[in-house]
Amino acid sequence: MVRTIQAIRGMNDILPDQAHHWEFFEQTVREWMAAFGYRSIRMPIVEQTDLFVRSIGAVTDIVEKEMYTFLDHLNGESLTLRPEGTASCVRAALEHNLLYSGPQRLYYSGPMFRHERPQKGRYRQFHQVGVEALGYTGPDIDAEHIVMCAALWGKLGIADVRLEIGTLGSVESRNLHRGRLINYLEQHLGELDEDAHRRLHSNPLRILDSKNPEMQQIIDGAPRLLDDLDEDSLKHFEGLQRSLRDQQIDFEINPRLVRGLDYYNRTVFEWVTDRLGAQGTVCAGGRYDGLVEQIGGKSTPACGFAMGVERLLALMQECGKEIPHVGPDIYVVHQGENATRFAWETVRYLRDEGLKAILHCGDGGFKSQMKKADASGARFAVIIGDDEANSTEITIKPLREAVEQVRVGLAESVNLLKQI
Ligand code: ATP
Ligand code: MG
Repeated sequence: MVRTIQAIRGMNDILPDQAHHWEFFEQTVREWMAAFGYRSIRMPIVEQTDLFVRSIGAVTDIVEKEMYTFLDHLNGESLTLRPEGTASCVRAALEHNLLYSGPQRLYYSGPMFRHERPQKGRYRQFHQVGVEALGYTGPDIDAEHIVMCAALWGKLGIADVRLEIGTLGSVESRNLHRGRLINYLEQHLGELDEDAHRRLHSNPLRILDSKNPEMQQIIDGAPRLLDDLDEDSLKHFEGLQRSLRDQQIDFEINPRLVRGLDYYNRTVFEWVTDRLGAQGTVCAGGRYDGLVEQIGGKSTPACGFAMGVERLLALMQECGKEIPHVGPDIYVVHQGENATRFAWETVRYLRDEGLKAILHCGDGGFKSQMKKADASGARFAVIIGDDEANSTEITIKPLREAVEQVRVGLAESVNLLKQI
């Protein structure tokens, strides 16, 4: 016996019974993006490792322990399966000078890879739709992104998501805050856990994001970034809030909102739900004004967000969104040499007329073919025997409605099939 091979842990197959949910989602996203004037961009799934180290940050969870990194044995380059899309998108925009023709509204979707512990809503290959606006100073574009999300939730039939927003300020104000935070944490050295000790000087802001309950008290007493913010960042944040109020979008300010990626500044936001258990963030994003320069371009303001497709699909299901599966219109059964020849002609004709037609393949008498027709989910069986073939007619038998079967010519059948 040959050992069976299974999919890699945390990497899922999407089977035909699920696929129409994905297709509905993808189609909805395409129309939604077009409505807001965003254009699609497609990047490779593999990039040079350095791109992610430089953009996401060397002391982030993603770069420290979640990346699928490997050597290209043919030339010794270190490559990484993309853990997210923003870095690749910015790299592509720079590489092809997209920003020379002005600001860009872009989106992409596809698989991302992170070596995390698989659990409900957390996978090693998962999918994101990412949206990036490059070259906009905002805060109007920040607001646009949030308004877009709210519009999409409506189209997907999603409820029970709340918006949390925060601001990280400028790099300078964050550095000021960083100093004060380190100072505070050093006064509580004995109470810090191992992770916090490790991050104390490399990434102290991330300590505030700790899930360790024993750390909560220290975290609650820590200086707040909001109190160290620079004037311009505060104005930007107020501008965003004003737009959201104008657009009747509810939000909560979360002063502890730190994102897991280093490139963010000023606006950060998350859409969170309580209906998916621990993995409740379905969408997250913010401003990243320093990233383009960090990757080697001219300083360019930018902001964007990414949605977790698996989590959104799960939430759609939780919210009872019905996505009808549309089966074929017709299943053609046939027997006899002339009949088979005419059956081929028939399916071609029907498909050209815009109908979805399956031609029975393989053996089987009429009875067993009819069983397959029924199982296919088709609305009609079209029956062709030599008798039909000789008179170039077909017999249409409704499989779902209590309607009599009829025998008609091909041209006539199309009107009839479209009518019923
Ligand atoms: P989390 O805090 O859940 O780990 P994150 O901050 O690492 O999320 P981002 O990098 O901001 O996530 O990615 C944006 C969105 O992508 C998340 O809000 C989530 O919906 C989804 N996502 C991230 N990691 C995973 C994963 N491993 N499996 C499934 N979805 C994910
Ligand atoms: Mg994560």
